[in-house]
Amino acid sequence: MTTWMDIVVVCPKCDTTFKGTVIGSCGYAGKDTDFYPRYWGANPLPHFVKVCPSCNYADHPSKFKQGTPRQDVPREEKLPCWRRYELVAETQRQDGASTFTLAQTLHRAAWGARAVDRDKTKELEFLHQARELFQQALSEDGVPTEPDDLRPIITYLVGELYRRTGEESIALEWFAKVLPMLDGGEELEWLTKLVESQTALAQKSHTENLSKE
Ligand SMILES: [Zn+2]
Repeated sequence: MTTWMDIVVVCPKCDTTFKGTVIGSCGYAGKDTDFYPRYWGANPLPHFVKVCPSCNYADHPSKFKQGTPRQDVPREEKLPCWRRYELVAETQRQDGASTFTLAQTLHRAAWGARAVDRDKTKELEFLHQARELFQQALSEDGVPTEPDDLRPIITYLVGELYRRTGEESIALEWFAKVLPMLDGGEELEWLTKLVESQTALAQKSHTENLSKE
């Protein structure tokens, strides 16, 4: 069950006071194969970030100051969910955020397009952008290795985002890199299973595409 409440915040950039919704609690049942949590009840994704109605500064609610409730406080604008995360990425770029952080934010923009806006074109556009940035983060050693080494998970994810954007043969190359990265411990057994199932899926559509040509 998703619960939410209204808060009044002040934009740290232009001092505009506005009202917005924040999530009190939420839960999910299962995840998509690119880790999107399938929330039950109202989708909380749009409300995890706030967007200033005056200057479009966008970030997590904790980055805004608390404001005083007044009658005439404007409400946060209704924007597509993907746009909210696109604006957060713009804020993060200006703040010099890491490639990995930007990749995560644009991946959430894709989730928003998929699960909230139901906009396939935007979903694919952001999956593509996120994939390029995750790939860049891997190549510049920008993927966290502490407290957990996320590199095998992100390597799988790059493959899965290639698969989701219709590039099965490249997806297969990325999936093939994952298992040699694992030390055989039980901890990432779920990842081994995921790599196996998504490899099978990618192989199937790859073969079907070849037979169409
Ligand atoms: Zn502002």
